[in-house]
Amino acid sequence: MNRFGFGVLKHGSILVLAAGLAGVLAAAQNPDINPLFGEKKVKNYIPHMTWVEVEQALTLTDAVIIPLGSNEQHGRHLPLGTDSYEAIETAKLIAQKADVLVAPVILAGLSPHHMGFPGTITLTPETFEAVVFETAQSLIRHGFRKILIFNGHGGNNVSVANIIQKINQTTKAWAFDLGKIEVPRKEPLYPPIPWDVHAGVEETSMMLYLAGSLVDMSKAVNPVLTVPPDVAALDALGKTDPSLAQLAGEMRFRPQETGKKTSTREMTDTGSVTTGDIKSATAERGRRELEGFIDAAAKFIEAWRKAT
Ligand SMILES: [Zn+2]
Repeated sequence: MNRFGFGVLKHGSILVLAAGLAGVLAAAQNPDINPLFGEKKVKNYIPHMTWVEVEQALTLTDAVIIPLGSNEQHGRHLPLGTDSYEAIETAKLIAQKADVLVAPVILAGLSPHHMGFPGTITLTPETFEAVVFETAQSLIRHGFRKILIFNGHGGNNVSVANIIQKINQTTKAWAFDLGKIEVPRKEPLYPPIPWDVHAGVEETSMMLYLAGSLVDMSKAVNPVLTVPPDVAALDALGKTDPSLAQLAGEMRFRPQETGKKTSTREMTDTGSVTTGDIKSATAERGRRELEGFIDAAAKFIEAWRKAT
């Protein structure tokens, strides 16, 4: 670009910047604009749509994603809503590529093993399953027939299977766990971390990409992990007998009241559960880890639509 062109661009940018700043100042000064509201309307996201838009969308698609999450501690640097934001924001990205709507997220999940940390909210499986099933029933009544459950929290897995079974057994619709789709991957994008299960490198990276303004990397601290000796011993034996590693997995993340010493308050000093370096998390890593899944999910939805 010649010097003149560059000058024009620079001048234009300053004008745009000044206009943007003026807008921000105007909003800050206008008492009739809620200064805390920052949401932009997202296409295909039911809470942002009018009923008229949903009615129109239903003439094009009968598929809907129900995102599930949790409200539980996620270390010192991630918000309690992490799993919910991961589910909802990923679902929104899928919905921009695929012919599908996104229902409101179910904000709390099954998190009894995190209750040692304040702010955590947990539901019983009965309550959780009833809320998700009745959400699906409402959508089915309006004509949705493909219910894609997208779960951002491992503690909900058993209930997700129950909900899907109930939808498939008792309603006109079909339900499927979007987390079960095959994601083609040639080789790992990053060197594997031996144990990175909660508020660690991968989850922090995903949040930096999906909802970065809620992450405070200055507070990210690697945890000191305290695994009970019997669980650690079974884990070690699991290297030669995978079923023993599976048993160790079952023993972890149980509520404090059971006396099993595997709640997160007892196993980690920060709430994070990882052997990786959380500070190495980046938004780019999060984007790259998610991209393959989002593409695969969109293709899966399209294939299901074509087949029916
Ligand atoms: Zn999480």
